[in-house]
Amino acid sequence: MFRSAAAKLTAGYLAIIMALSIGCSFALYRVSSNQLASSAQRPVDLYNAVFGPSSAGDINNLRQRQLEKDRSRLKVNLLLFNIAVLAFGASVSYILARRTLAPIEDSLEMQKRFTGDASHELRTPLTAMQTEIEVALRSPDLTKKEAIDLLKSNLEEVGKLKSLSEGLLTLATTSSRDTRRQQVSIKDVASLALEQAAKPAVARKITIKSIVKEAHVLGNPQQLLNLLSILLDNAIKYSQPGSKITIETKPQDKYAVISVTDRGQGIAAADLPHIYDRFYRADTSRSSKNAQGYGLGLAIAKNIVDLHKGAIEVKSKPGRGSTFTVRLPLA
Ligand code: ADP
Repeated sequence: MFRSAAAKLTAGYLAIIMALSIGCSFALYRVSSNQLASSAQRPVDLYNAVFGPSSAGDINNLRQRQLEKDRSRLKVNLLLFNIAVLAFGASVSYILARRTLAPIEDSLEMQKRFTGDASHELRTPLTAMQTEIEVALRSPDLTKKEAIDLLKSNLEEVGKLKSLSEGLLTLATTSSRDTRRQQVSIKDVASLALEQAAKPAVARKITIKSIVKEAHVLGNPQQLLNLLSILLDNAIKYSQPGSKITIETKPQDKYAVISVTDRGQGIAAADLPHIYDRFYRADTSRSSKNAQGYGLGLAIAKNIVDLHKGAIEVKSKPGRGSTFTVRLPLA
């Protein structure tokens, strides 16, 4: 598809270049040909004035032939010039067409990968449910307890599907440029995020220390709450039970700075460049029973930070912990 689009675009660019080149050549030919004619006429007039009109015939013919010769040389030169423009223009047009199409090709490739990853993630819980149901239906003497276990297990898979679809929906909504903005108190957002994080933190015996100073930003409160929840949720998921997490917010220079520090498993240097990619999960996280997820959290967090014209960075040491820092322009 892209090959034929590139060919069409190349032909289009080339047609424009050639139309310009041929148009200019015609104009140049007319101007130069007129100039040649008038400069050929001048010596004949002079000859007539000096020697009289009777002897002017020969020189006139001579000049006329010279003029024809000059004109045909001009035509040949312009033709050669246009052939050179055609060859050069074709390669330039091809390069331009490739450059125009490259970002579209990249984003299409990304969409394809995304759809593939999403279907793969959706298929895993669905296949688990299907297998369990099929096995249960084949068993002639299914007990009530077995049926209840099956329903519980299916409910768990449904929960996973629900959280995946919610993640995909949030990713889609935070990918669009359209966001309603209002003055948001980072202190309020942080305390709401802390409220939400309290239950999973208690479940993992993790204490959260908060050093929250007020700062206001222009943004979407729901998205900012989502951002802080993702960072806190990850800090809880990837920490050892009994450890400590710190959340700090403060105004600094022209930014509201939010940082979440954990003393958990940390992130290997090789994983750091990929953690904001959709569906990316470090191998250590995939194999960990506690850390459930689909690798969408940080992709959503990055989208939200970008929408708020901010920046997110991480400092991490494997085995020692990680600090995620977000900077958002102050309102
Ligand atoms: P998820 O947590 O659902 O796997 P995320 O997009 O939130 O997806 O994170 C991507 C990956 O980055 C995680 O799988 C994990 O490997 C790594 N990661 C994110 N936050 C932390 C953290 N605080 N400590 C260690 N690893 C982290």
